[in-house]
Amino acid sequence: MTAASQKPQLSLDARLGLDRYEIDAEQSHIAVDHDKCKTCTTRPCLVCCPAIVYRWTDERVAVAYENCLECGTCQIACDHGGRGAITWHIPAGGFGIAFRYG
Ligand code: SF4
Ligand code: SF4
Repeated sequence: MTAASQKPQLSLDARLGLDRYEIDAEQSHIAVDHDKCKTCTTRPCLVCCPAIVYRWTDERVAVAYENCLECGTCQIACDHGGRGAITWHIPAGGFGIAFRYG
Protein backbone atom coordinates (compact mmCIF):
# COMPACT_ATOMS: atom_id res chain seq x y z
CA MET A 1 0.00 0.00 0.00
CA THR A 2 1.36 3.40 -0.93
CA ALA A 3 1.25 6.44 1.30
CA ALA A 4 -1.05 8.14 -1.19
CA SER A 5 -3.68 5.39 -0.83
CA GLN A 6 -3.74 5.49 2.95
CA LYS A 7 -6.60 7.32 4.60
CA PRO A 8 -5.66 9.79 7.33
CA GLN A 9 -6.35 8.51 10.83
CA LEU A 10 -9.18 10.38 12.54
CA SER A 11 -9.56 10.68 16.28
CA LEU A 12 -12.59 9.08 17.91
CA ASP A 13 -14.13 12.49 18.52
CA ALA A 14 -13.61 13.42 14.87
CA ARG A 15 -15.26 10.18 13.73
CA LEU A 16 -18.21 10.66 16.03
CA GLY A 17 -18.52 14.21 14.78
CA LEU A 18 -19.27 12.86 11.30
CA ASP A 19 -22.28 10.87 12.53
CA ARG A 20 -25.79 12.24 12.43
CA TYR A 21 -28.31 11.99 15.22
CA GLU A 22 -32.04 12.33 14.78
CA ILE A 23 -33.24 12.85 18.33
CA ASP A 24 -36.72 11.82 19.42
CA ALA A 25 -37.52 14.70 21.73
CA GLU A 26 -40.83 13.11 22.68
CA GLN A 27 -39.60 9.81 24.03
CA SER A 28 -36.38 8.22 25.22
CA HIS A 29 -35.52 4.77 23.88
CA ILE A 30 -33.90 4.01 27.24
CA ALA A 31 -35.88 3.48 30.44
CA VAL A 32 -34.37 2.99 33.90
CA ASP A 33 -36.16 1.57 36.93
CA HIS A 34 -34.63 3.85 39.53
CA ASP A 35 -35.92 1.75 42.43
CA LYS A 36 -33.69 -1.12 41.27
CA CYS A 37 -30.72 1.23 41.06
CA LYS A 38 -31.02 1.98 44.78
CA THR A 39 -29.67 -1.48 45.59
CA CYS A 40 -27.02 -1.50 42.85
CA THR A 41 -23.54 -1.18 44.31
CA THR A 42 -21.50 -1.93 41.19
CA ARG A 43 -23.19 0.47 38.72
CA PRO A 44 -21.56 -0.84 35.55
CA CYS A 45 -23.67 1.51 33.45
CA LEU A 46 -21.42 4.35 34.54
CA VAL A 47 -18.31 2.81 32.98
CA CYS A 48 -19.48 0.56 30.13
CA CYS A 49 -21.06 3.11 27.81
CA PRO A 50 -18.72 4.46 25.11
CA ALA A 51 -20.85 7.59 24.82
CA ILE A 52 -21.07 8.24 28.59
CA VAL A 53 -24.85 8.27 28.42
CA TYR A 54 -25.20 7.34 32.12
CA ARG A 55 -24.10 9.57 34.98
CA TRP A 56 -24.76 9.33 38.70
CA THR A 57 -26.37 12.64 39.62
CA ASP A 58 -28.44 13.61 42.66
CA GLU A 59 -28.50 10.03 43.98
CA ARG A 60 -29.85 8.55 40.75
CA VAL A 61 -28.86 7.60 37.24
CA ALA A 62 -29.27 10.38 34.69
CA VAL A 63 -29.63 9.21 31.09
CA ALA A 64 -28.47 11.37 28.17
CA TYR A 65 -30.19 9.14 25.62
CA GLU A 66 -29.64 11.60 22.78
CA ASN A 67 -25.93 10.60 22.73
CA CYS A 68 -26.56 6.86 22.40
CA LEU A 69 -24.52 4.98 19.78
CA GLU A 70 -26.93 2.00 19.85
CA CYS A 71 -24.35 -0.62 20.75
CA GLY A 72 -26.55 -2.37 23.34
CA THR A 73 -23.78 -2.75 25.90
CA CYS A 74 -25.63 -1.06 28.76
CA GLN A 75 -28.53 -3.51 28.71
CA ILE A 76 -26.15 -6.46 29.00
CA ALA A 77 -23.99 -4.79 31.66
CA CYS A 78 -26.98 -3.87 33.80
CA ASP A 79 -28.61 -7.29 33.42
CA HIS A 80 -25.45 -9.18 34.37
CA GLY A 81 -23.53 -6.78 36.61
CA GLY A 82 -26.24 -4.47 37.89
CA ARG A 83 -29.85 -4.96 38.91
CA GLY A 84 -31.57 -5.30 35.53
CA ALA A 85 -32.95 -1.79 35.68
CA ILE A 86 -32.36 -0.79 32.06
CA THR A 87 -34.88 -1.38 29.30
CA TRP A 88 -33.33 -0.45 25.98
CA HIS A 89 -35.03 -0.38 22.58
CA ILE A 90 -33.94 0.54 19.09
CA PRO A 91 -35.10 4.14 18.60
CA ALA A 92 -38.39 4.58 16.77
CA GLY A 93 -38.23 4.66 12.97
CA GLY A 94 -36.30 7.59 11.60
CA PHE A 95 -34.67 8.38 14.94
CA GLY A 96 -31.28 7.47 16.33
CA ILE A 97 -27.76 7.56 14.96
CA ALA A 98 -26.60 7.30 11.34
CA PHE A 99 -22.93 6.29 11.17
CA ARG A 100 -20.93 7.96 8.44
CA TYR A 101 -17.40 6.62 8.92
CA GLY A 102 -16.09 3.07 8.68
S1 SF4 B 1 -26.14 -0.76 36.35
FE1 SF4 B 1 -28.38 -0.77 36.12
S2 SF4 B 1 -29.16 -1.04 38.21
FE2 SF4 B 1 -27.01 -0.40 38.40
S3 SF4 B 1 -27.10 1.83 38.61
FE3 SF4 B 1 -26.84 1.36 36.42
S4 SF4 B 1 -28.94 1.34 35.58
FE4 SF4 B 1 -29.09 1.15 37.83
S1 SF4 C 1 -26.57 1.31 23.76
FE1 SF4 C 1 -24.34 1.66 23.95
S2 SF4 C 1 -24.06 3.84 23.51
FE2 SF4 C 1 -26.25 3.53 23.93
S3 SF4 C 1 -26.50 3.97 26.08
FE3 SF4 C 1 -26.15 1.76 25.91
S4 SF4 C 1 -23.93 1.47 26.13
FE4 SF4 C 1 -24.29 3.64 25.72
